[in-house]
Amino acid sequence: MKREQLEKHLNEKVKVQLFNGDIIEGYLRKTGEDDFKNNPNLYIPKNRYFLTDGGLNCVSCLFRVSHVVKIQIDKNIKCCPYCGSEQYYIKQNFKGTCCYHIRFDGKETENGDLWDNASFKNTSKYAWCSYCNKRLFELDN
Ligand SMILES: [Zn+2]
Repeated sequence: MKREQLEKHLNEKVKVQLFNGDIIEGYLRKTGEDDFKNNPNLYIPKNRYFLTDGGLNCVSCLFRVSHVVKIQIDKNIKCCPYCGSEQYYIKQNFKGTCCYHIRFDGKETENGDLWDNASFKNTSKYAWCSYCNKRLFELDN
């Protein structure tokens, strides 16, 4: 795995598979960040990565980029890791026909079944944050 690929996921909740087969889960962090000034084990080594519990507690070993076989963003995140939004969207296109109901007096009316006959197709395999528009995780097919 390339360093840039891995660092795209810094601070995200991820699942990492290491070269020895271990699969570890947590928030991806990098050594040497100011947050870890008080912990020499996490502050002094260079270009090492580790996972935390979301706070400052390290829950994995230190590993190098070259140790990472695979990285996945956790689909069970409860909110956007960047802005905290609890909503995300998926990109779709659709086609279909519908009856759009309009009242003679111009007031709003029910159009709940508007999409019943439409067929949707995902146009992106990722979920995106509704607020900050960052890419969040890969969808299942
Ligand atoms: Zn967001």
